[in-house]
Amino acid sequence: MNPFTVRLDLHGDLDFFLRSGPRRRSIERSLAEKTSVKDVIESCGVPHPEVDLILVNGQPMDFNYAIAGDADIEVYPVGTRFSHFKDKRLQIAKIRRFAVDGHLGKLARHLRLLGFDVAYDPQAEDRQLLEIMKRENRALLTRDRRLLMHAVVETGYCPRSQNADEQTIEIIRRFDLLGSLAPFTRCLRCNAQLRKVSKAEVIERLEPLTKIYYEQFRRCTGCGQIYWAGSHFSKLQKRLEKNRANCT
Ligand SMILES: [Zn+2]
Repeated sequence: MNPFTVRLDLHGDLDFFLRSGPRRRSIERSLAEKTSVKDVIESCGVPHPEVDLILVNGQPMDFNYAIAGDADIEVYPVGTRFSHFKDKRLQIAKIRRFAVDGHLGKLARHLRLLGFDVAYDPQAEDRQLLEIMKRENRALLTRDRRLLMHAVVETGYCPRSQNADEQTIEIIRRFDLLGSLAPFTRCLRCNAQLRKVSKAEVIERLEPLTKIYYEQFRRCTGCGQIYWAGSHFSKLQKRLEKNRANCT
């Protein structure tokens, strides 16, 4: 087979994944054999779960499409403003269950605080993380691009920011979660649901000041931990309100 050239144009913030040098949205690759468009894109550093729409010479294609000659490839992320080919999108926009990489503990905590079902185990190896993602149909959240490129990953996201608050906003935007926030309904420690309990039921276990200042309590149905809307929760809530405009 004669060598041929493909030109990739990365749209939106996909240039985040380009490894080195000045970030250029346009990349040229020389190929000598038939290659799936998924492999071409990932060889440039962009994990497939980040790609929502692929146009090859202007036509929408799925990941398996084989490139065998010169081609122009346009690559769009989820949430792109590009409004054509709505029915050719490759990613699920809405998902509310997550498997979170052991390095993203703060993000896992924030998402649970907002009521989302988050599998998180800082001791878990990559293999176990992928297993639980697959078995429980969760979206993978990781900053490990190699892991996100794993063939078993269908839905996932790499937080761009290293800051947990900003990451939380990114996840709300990427998975369209703004209408699904249910703060104060899930245990931060074990991920089980919280249930409302009367003050009388838990008063024996409260610190003196908590007894005085708080009236509304919830208890974890999994581990029994008691929660009240203390300062940490209100702070996060305020920050989220401030960022709400960015989420839409
Ligand atoms: Zn719990």
